[in-house]
Amino acid sequence: MKRLLQLLALAVLILLAVLLYHTLTLPQADSRVAELPDLPQAMDEDAMVGRLAAALRFPTLPDQPNAFVGFHDFLRDSFPLTHQTLSLKAFGHSLLYHWDSKNDCPPQLLLAHQDVVPVSSPEKWQKPPFAGVVDDDFVWGRGALDDKGSLMAILEATEALLQSGQAPACDVYLAFGHDEEIGGREGAVKMAAWLEQQNLRFALILDEGGMMLPGSTLGMDRPVALMGIAEKGYMTVELQAEAEPGHSSRPPERTAIGDLAAAIHHLQTHPRPASLSLPTRKMLEQVAPHQSFAKRLVFANLWLFEPLIIRQLEGKPETNA
Ligand SMILES: [Zn+2]
Repeated sequence: MKRLLQLLALAVLILLAVLLYHTLTLPQADSRVAELPDLPQAMDEDAMVGRLAAALRFPTLPDQPNAFVGFHDFLRDSFPLTHQTLSLKAFGHSLLYHWDSKNDCPPQLLLAHQDVVPVSSPEKWQKPPFAGVVDDDFVWGRGALDDKGSLMAILEATEALLQSGQAPACDVYLAFGHDEEIGGREGAVKMAAWLEQQNLRFALILDEGGMMLPGSTLGMDRPVALMGIAEKGYMTVELQAEAEPGHSSRPPERTAIGDLAAAIHHLQTHPRPASLSLPTRKMLEQVAPHQSFAKRLVFANLWLFEPLIIRQLEGKPETNA
């Protein structure tokens, strides 16, 4: 009995040593904050803000073709050098720009979308959704973040580089879809097919994606920038049930509606099993050095604590996803 206890104590000691080893050998938190470079001379901040606000005044919704036409005229007027230098191919209202570097190296593809989500109850908005209001703190409007902010930033950068006489080392493609919010079938799908036909392989594809999160979500004291490196898909299931019709006075033991309800209930109670995918594991590793000691110990020892972390993440719909 005494021997068994000794062995057990030894096992616990070894386990603790392994946990501590992993925790203490975690890379140190890199607390350097990169200074943003000064804006190039050509970039006038007020003018950029004004152009973003103006872009938001076009209600680029699926049922508003004129808004897209107006938006395209606005882009041509706002970014003259871009439109002189880059070639432009239209796919419906979608726009695909090509900046030819004359060099033979893998190109880059920058994406954004022009369309916005319809506004169902404008009276609930603090500022009208399509007024492009600018105050001391924000540029207000539908699409400011999703996704005209990206679109305008890409074009502002392109125009500023052209103004300062710079050209990219390798080709750059800019693709601005017009129906991203409703599936992208007429825009992104067609542009992608065309790019594939040209046999292009990109060194980098940058799309709208993650966001800045308050660090508290991940137990940190500073904001966290989430980079989306994959996109979650979805599945549509169609359920059909057949049963003998009959009279309500002599209901059968089972009805089609009952069978359907049982199937739907089964789907709801059997979600896909949770697992920590590689990107999620990498994210936990990256935030680990910024955590309290207890959390560092957990994150640094995923080999042991993975089930615990999964159970924790399953607790909230956002993290469960
Ligand atoms: Zn978007």
